[in-house]
Amino acid sequence: MKKLIDGIVEFRNKSLEQYREKYARLAAGQSPDTLFIACCDSRVVPNTFASTNPGDLFVVRNVGNLVCPCHNHHENEVDQSIGAAIEFAVCQLKVKDIIVCGHSECGAMNALISNSQLDVQLPNLFFQRWLKHAQPALKKYQQGFRIKSVQKQEIHNEISQINVVQQLEHLKTYSAVSKAILEKKLRIHGWWFELSTANVFYYDQTNHHFVLIDEIGAHKILQKNGH
Ligand SMILES: [Zn+2]
Repeated sequence: MKKLIDGIVEFRNKSLEQYREKYARLAAGQSPDTLFIACCDSRVVPNTFASTNPGDLFVVRNVGNLVCPCHNHHENEVDQSIGAAIEFAVCQLKVKDIIVCGHSECGAMNALISNSQLDVQLPNLFFQRWLKHAQPALKKYQQGFRIKSVQKQEIHNEISQINVVQQLEHLKTYSAVSKAILEKKLRIHGWWFELSTANVFYYDQTNHHFVLIDEIGAHKILQKNGH
């Protein structure tokens, strides 16, 4: 925690002045245009790789950037936390985009692969139960489903990319999401962050592959999304 406490003092001394006005304005209310769903992993920091500022993103982070599907489940089985965040973002904040962002070297994906043969057991009871929302991605990989990629990825990274696409499907099971998409008020996107290069990739839903977000990629993506 020392790093955090020192960081607060450093922020107060060096940066607070330039943020003072912004925070005073944000205290009156937030209007982020994007719900960002990412992994808890300490190395995935959208504020750094996407240069975002306070007020820009409404963020949900959980192990493996998972969205539990809400169909065919008893209400108690649905993760209330993510359901609440989705409803609040879509219905109250009226975000225009939802991004599910996976990443390379994800511990959850490694666990998914290595534990796929094991029964749910202590002490990983909650972890294993939670990972079942990523199981369809593993299953698709085992059945031969692949996402086209410019460079050869390791298995856990391939599954991580399939998992992003899987979680987009899960998002659509929320009526707030499907309704807003139908009314053309909302778009959903899959991103993938590569730790070793800090490159961010965008899932092209038409061609089923991940495209690097550099200047050329960004131009195409924004054009496609009507910006
Ligand atoms: Zn992760």
